[in-house]
Amino acid sequence: MLIVQKFGGSSVADAEKIRRVAGIIADTYEEGNDVVVVLSAQGDTTDDLLEKAAELNERPSKRELDMLLSTGEQQSIALMAMCLEKMRYPVVSLTGWQVGMETTSDHGAARIMRMKTERIMRELDKRRIVIVAGFQGITKGNDVTTLGRGGSDTTAVAIAAALHADKCQIFTDVEGVYTADPRKVPDAKKLDEITYDEMLELASLGAQVLHNRSVELAKRYGIVLEVLSSYVRKPGTKVKEVAKKVEENKISGIAKDVDVARVAVVGVPDAPGVAFRVFNEMARKKINVDVILQSYGKNNTNDISFTVPLGDADAAERALNDAREAIGFDHVSIDKGIAKVSIIGAGMMSASGVAALMFEALSDAEINIHMISTSEIKVSVLIDEEMADLAVKAIHSKFFG
Ligand code: ASP
Ligand code: MG
Repeated sequence: MLIVQKFGGSSVADAEKIRRVAGIIADTYEEGNDVVVVLSAQGDTTDDLLEKAAELNERPSKRELDMLLSTGEQQSIALMAMCLEKMRYPVVSLTGWQVGMETTSDHGAARIMRMKTERIMRELDKRRIVIVAGFQGITKGNDVTTLGRGGSDTTAVAIAAALHADKCQIFTDVEGVYTADPRKVPDAKKLDEITYDEMLELASLGAQVLHNRSVELAKRYGIVLEVLSSYVRKPGTKVKEVAKKVEENKISGIAKDVDVARVAVVGVPDAPGVAFRVFNEMARKKINVDVILQSYGKNNTNDISFTVPLGDADAAERALNDAREAIGFDHVSIDKGIAKVSIIGAGMMSASGVAALMFEALSDAEINIHMISTSEIKVSVLIDEEMADLAVKAIHSKFFG
């Protein structure tokens, strides 16, 4: 079998951890498999590099930032290869550019366009273990790029897709995907399986197990992902098209996202085209808008509220204030102290009373809901940030308790 194994930064944080991971890789190889390994930078390396950059230039160009950040992964692949060499395994480490990981030129958020497979195949033919740097790529013009924070997962899936791997395993410091964050909710349960769509929602709604683009890619190419622990050798969670539910649970998980802000545009004229103008301002600034609510305001006006990523809140406020006279609303207000809590489940549409159960849990815990949004597989509510952990616990015990 051809197996792609990805290990995150915490799994390779120091020499002892690298040795442990090398043991997993060696065992997989000994079983007769072709093994391609993708690594992240060790521990907090990427954050440390960002700090170093800021000491010299608070707004460095994205090109130079990528040049710097890509070195983190280059360190871990070389160290892992040395460790395996010492254990007398044939091994070679390769950077993103050496494996021909061609990306767009959006530095810091590059997307993989195609990947050349020759070099990796040649190494595998020699029965070498191949260790590839995650998170990085190269443009057509030979500039180094990175895929965005957490991007090594995406590298692993792209390699698995290009090589038609039999397995793609994502090793991490938790044992799989849980019904809620196990660090916050002690009785959270590990899921045996979860669908791509559920995982995508979980990933984009704040569960930090997998980079959401890696899940998109896996779905597109039908790659079954397995999320499992680098520390405990037992089966993890499979991410696939259709997942079997072990228990009769109506939902698969609960996610919390505190990286959101609420923008309220107060006193907009009750007339056609107004919502378009408000959201057009956001689109022009490339600000992603989520939960939207329009309600009646005073004197024939409406209030339009919506959420944006926390980091875009100030830009959203500025853009709207610049357009205030043209659109004719009264004022904008921003609330950064909010959180989005969501329940996710592919079976939600066919089960009645799911949303009611969630609201009941919040009501029992006396948590006020500011906004609600629903889709086929999720219900999200906006609440005060300081209530978020309590809300997740309350909802969890309602559904799984
Ligand atoms: N080292 C990068 C980061 O910290 C990529 C990754 O870990 O996946 O975001
Ligand atoms: Mg990660």
